[in-house]
Amino acid sequence: MKTIALFLCSIFLLATISFANTEAKKIDSAWMLEMNSFAESQKLTADFKLIEKHFSAKGKNFKCSFVVGLSYFSVQGKVIPLSHKTVLDENGKVWVPVQEALPEFEKAFNVKFYLDSAKSQITTQAPKTESTAKIQSSSSVAKSISSSSLKASTKNIPDDRSAKAGSREVRTIIIDPGHGGKDPGAQGLKSNEKDIVLAVAHKLKADLEEAGFEVKLTRDKDVFIELGERPNLANKWNGDLFISLHCNAIEGDSIKHRKTKGYHFYVLRAPESEEDKAIARRENKVAALYGDKKAKTDISPIEWIKIQASLEVYQKNSFNFTEKLLKSFEKGSTKRLGQGAGGAGFMVLVGALMPATLVELGFITNPDDEAFMNSEAGQKELSGLIKNAVEAYREGVHAYRETLTH
Ligand SMILES: [Zn+2]
Repeated sequence: MKTIALFLCSIFLLATISFANTEAKKIDSAWMLEMNSFAESQKLTADFKLIEKHFSAKGKNFKCSFVVGLSYFSVQGKVIPLSHKTVLDENGKVWVPVQEALPEFEKAFNVKFYLDSAKSQITTQAPKTESTAKIQSSSSVAKSISSSSLKASTKNIPDDRSAKAGSREVRTIIIDPGHGGKDPGAQGLKSNEKDIVLAVAHKLKADLEEAGFEVKLTRDKDVFIELGERPNLANKWNGDLFISLHCNAIEGDSIKHRKTKGYHFYVLRAPESEEDKAIARRENKVAALYGDKKAKTDISPIEWIKIQASLEVYQKNSFNFTEKLLKSFEKGSTKRLGQGAGGAGFMVLVGALMPATLVELGFITNPDDEAFMNSEAGQKELSGLIKNAVEAYREGVHAYRETLTH
């Protein structure tokens, strides 16, 4: 009896697995399908990388991948624009637009899929009810309208741009002026960090554009943006380099304030010193103070292992760019702090799918640095020094690519 019951039970389980339907729902007026359930229904191997927010599904003769927050995906080696961004919900489900994903899946599997809006699922059987049929037809109208615009936008993505940032030519620079709005950042005697970094960001944007770069700012005015949203924007804009601008600060009396000055650059790496750890903690505090209440100011050793592994691709270029910064700033009129570069767990750098460096322009708590960073001449100089480093980095990447093709 027991064996029969077990046998029946496993038959039942198998049946549920093989008939698993793909979940679907409307997000921001667009029908989206859930990729984990789709992978299950097609017996694909699904994988989600937490830090990179990268979902991939593989099977015999099939592969596709989506990145949360990005409005295109790759299927069978092709890059296809999406009308809506890929969404990750709080249950770890990955939602992608039906409109563009489903036709590609149909081609790949040679199966007709239907959206059953009444049951909120994708099936291989045509829905029977009138209401679903109607939605079905309106969605196919939307499909045919979008297919022409789809073609146009496919043309706008050159092959080169689908390669990983750092291995393609350097074109788009993301400047991230730290803090903003209700979060003033560190405070000096007469100024706030948020205002200095915004002023330098505007100058840097103009300088870089003059040098032929495409430039995006995560904020272009005095507004508050969540820490985690900044790398998301950078990913959305498909940047080649992420530069987060900040001012350093130190606690203590005026003697200590006068003693501690200079610029310092940071890449995302397990911290080497207690000082670096403390600076990262101060910058990370923002998230907990003003935004995400669950935000942490420290990254645990286990989390470090995950981050290190997934960011290895970009880390080498983050170091390369930081080296260019060090070289460029040597010609400037301010001094560097210590070795001038270090690594720490800056939350704002976690999740940027590109080489990324955090620049502490100087100490706002030091009277000389504060005056320099607030002056027109100082801001111009700082912007020029960063621009020179970006140009040197672009040349370095180009030269490296040349060696690959010749
Ligand atoms: Zn800051």
